[in-house]
Amino acid sequence: MTFDFKKYIAAIPDFPEPGIIFRDVTPLMADGEAYAAATKEFVAYTKAQGGIDVVVGPESRGFIVGGPVAYELGIGFVPARKAGKLPRETVRQDYELEYGGINTLEMHADAIKPGQRVLITDDLLATGGTIEATVKLIEQLGGIVVGIAFLIELDDLHGRDKLTEYDIFSLMHY
Ligand code: 5GP
Repeated sequence: MTFDFKKYIAAIPDFPEPGIIFRDVTPLMADGEAYAAATKEFVAYTKAQGGIDVVVGPESRGFIVGGPVAYELGIGFVPARKAGKLPRETVRQDYELEYGGINTLEMHADAIKPGQRVLITDDLLATGGTIEATVKLIEQLGGIVVGIAFLIELDDLHGRDKLTEYDIFSLMHY
């Protein structure tokens, strides 16, 4: 029997703005069985992609999703952080936010070695701006994005259209 992941996702109407239904993944992360089952799915997907060297996740839910995957695979985890948080030399990428405005993500310039095979993880794919920026950072450093794994994909926002060159795995679709 397949695991009922959707049971652990709360739908919050009008958050953070009127008309938006926010998909809250924190109940899934708070449940040991559901969190482990989601991690197992991500690990199986990653293995099917032919193996990776490092997991990259954007701040901040990408850390919570990607950390256990890296641990299970015995490889490292690299954070893509919001501007101004990383202490050493960085590469930077601006992107547009789903609800308007511009954000910036940064990665340490030595975090990915040229030729390394990378899995990107995040909780949710909406318009795709966050992951497009993350891909650009990895590629600036010479990394190869071999897969992108989400807990949730919001199909109506067509984030996939920004990522057509990449393999995408989504555990749930709304
Ligand atoms: P995108 O850049 O694809 O438009 O937005 C995705 C990013 O915004 C993800 O990092 C995700 O954490 C956050 N996000 C946007 N909408 C939602 C939502 O409904 N639920 C959750 N959990 N995160 C969201």
